[in-house]
Amino acid sequence: MREYTGRVPSKLPDVGTTIFTVVSREAASCGALNLAQGFPDFTAASALFDAVARHMHAGHNQYSPMAGQPVLRAAVSAKMAAVYGAQYDADTEITITAGATQAVYTAIAALAGQGDEVIVFEPAFDSYVPGIRLAGAVPVFVRLDAPDFLPDWDAVARAITSRTRLIITNTPHNPTGSAWSLDDQRQLAALCEGHDILVISDEVYEHIVFDGREHASACRVPELAARTLLVSSFGKTFHVTGWKVGFVCAPPSLSAEFRRVHQFNVFAVNTPCQLGLADYMADASRYLDLGAFYQRKRDDFRARLAGSRFELLDCAGTYFQLARYAAISGEADEAFVRRLMREAGVATIPVSAFYHDGFDPGLIRFCFAKSEALIAQACERLCAL
Ligand code: GLN
Repeated sequence: MREYTGRVPSKLPDVGTTIFTVVSREAASCGALNLAQGFPDFTAASALFDAVARHMHAGHNQYSPMAGQPVLRAAVSAKMAAVYGAQYDADTEITITAGATQAVYTAIAALAGQGDEVIVFEPAFDSYVPGIRLAGAVPVFVRLDAPDFLPDWDAVARAITSRTRLIITNTPHNPTGSAWSLDDQRQLAALCEGHDILVISDEVYEHIVFDGREHASACRVPELAARTLLVSSFGKTFHVTGWKVGFVCAPPSLSAEFRRVHQFNVFAVNTPCQLGLADYMADASRYLDLGAFYQRKRDDFRARLAGSRFELLDCAGTYFQLARYAAISGEADEAFVRRLMREAGVATIPVSAFYHDGFDPGLIRFCFAKSEALIAQACERLCAL
């Protein structure tokens, strides 16, 4: 194709390709074992595939209603009530999205504008800040510190100004694996009191919490739920990240604003997947057993690395494990990750990728949502370092 010779305006001139795409591509090109991008390398349940196929063959292949299939919204509503005791009306308070990244992006676009401030906890999932900047809003960063990566509520209080419009939270937390307590959610509720601040609560790992913890969903604190758009994902819960189906739960006025934008940037999400997911969710054990499933993977991964020179941080939830590599190398995390990929054949994510200023806490992120064979092979290589 002939190159365009005019000026191409850029809204994100300093943004390259996301770290997940870059590392997954490099891992594939050098044949490294991929413990980098967060996705399961094992299959999902055939009952789920059968359900989706059944709906395709039954002719459900046209647009869904803009807010999502009523049966799936009803299934989400029932789940939120059963698991968290939260009452979300399927018609007015639940919207099905094309994954959680779209949900967060649309929520920001709908609710933050020119000059508004949006508080982001760092390290942060890498889509939040570009979404804020594209809306013309200003990210305000609050650092989460190692080793527990839990918020310093005094620091959050200091970050709030008259221009704060949104706070984006994420628990269980990607990339650190930390998990908030209900007391954290109550502290957030108290700080928002008396301000026009809304909350986007990214809870995509809601069912992946360990060691008997209960997920501290924002919806369990009523005064917080009243100002929160809660975002979650079927991809994480049912091992189908590539289907890109998620949902947003929010009170009617917030859901209405969300849908005003959603209808024009997505309109509706693919129909057979929604219908199949609704059928599959009827058996609650399919999501309630997920924590135990991943806890076994976490424990296996940690046990296999016990003899290595990596220092493993605590992991309360998600399918990510952070590790300090200071005993192996004094390199910057990006350089270490590159060398680990080329020389040891294991791909990971440098945690500096989750900071806007490239801050390097000397940590790398492993994803343990992988088959036992892959984990065994990768750990053998990591123990040899
Ligand atoms: N959530 C996944 C991760 O953190 C990646 C999703 C993506 O590539 N956008 O690895």
